[in-house]
Amino acid sequence: MTEKTVAPTVNSAGYDVPPELRQSVAITTLDKIWNMGRRYSVWPMMFGLACCAIEMICTAASRYDLARFGMEVMRPSPRQSDLMIVSGTVTKKMIPQIVRLYNQMPEPKYVMAMGACASGGGPFKEGYNVVSGVDQYIPVDVYVPGCPPTPQALLHGLMKLQEKIDRESITKVRWYQKDEIPAIPVPILGPDIIDPRDSAAIREMASRKAAPAAPAAQPEAAEAPAA
Ligand code: SF4
Repeated sequence: MTEKTVAPTVNSAGYDVPPELRQSVAITTLDKIWNMGRRYSVWPMMFGLACCAIEMICTAASRYDLARFGMEVMRPSPRQSDLMIVSGTVTKKMIPQIVRLYNQMPEPKYVMAMGACASGGGPFKEGYNVVSGVDQYIPVDVYVPGCPPTPQALLHGLMKLQEKIDRESITKVRWYQKDEIPAIPVPILGPDIIDPRDSAAIREMASRKAAPAAPAAQPEAAEAPAA
């Protein structure tokens, strides 16, 4: 009978399992088994913003088969998602909703900026209605370049995310620390978008503009010539 080998993803290097136990015993670290469970069950949130979303939908279909990564279950609710794929142009009207959705996702959660628009504004950068990159408001874990990225590029980005998850340690990740993780303030949509984190600086700038200008120094009156 040929001896089965235990999957190398489970057995950690440095732990020698006797040959007679290799079919039924695996020795590993808590981090490794915990990360293995999470990396194969990342559930993306089901929403798209522009043309990149078409490629994302295509990636989830049978030809590219996201199910191989345990990611085929796109969730329609942020409460059940742990990956936000920002696929498309991020407009100033949409960013408050994106931040709100991000805040509603439970930890651990990850963000992928898919395409040139989500990564930095793309062809619409500096446009009057477009945000120059979603990372100005929420933290991004993986950037996928392209306009639009191909399904293969998106799959590559998802594998990069899996590698990132593999490097995490249960003792160091932010969501298991004692301190509460503050929610990101939702930007305010006005004549131009306002990030509440900048409000102190905006108030100071406005008060400087509103302050009455100091009166200009009057030239001294010339002395009358002597008679
Ligand atoms: S990066 Fe290109 S394909 Fe993607 S949303 Fe922007 S314009 Fe569309």
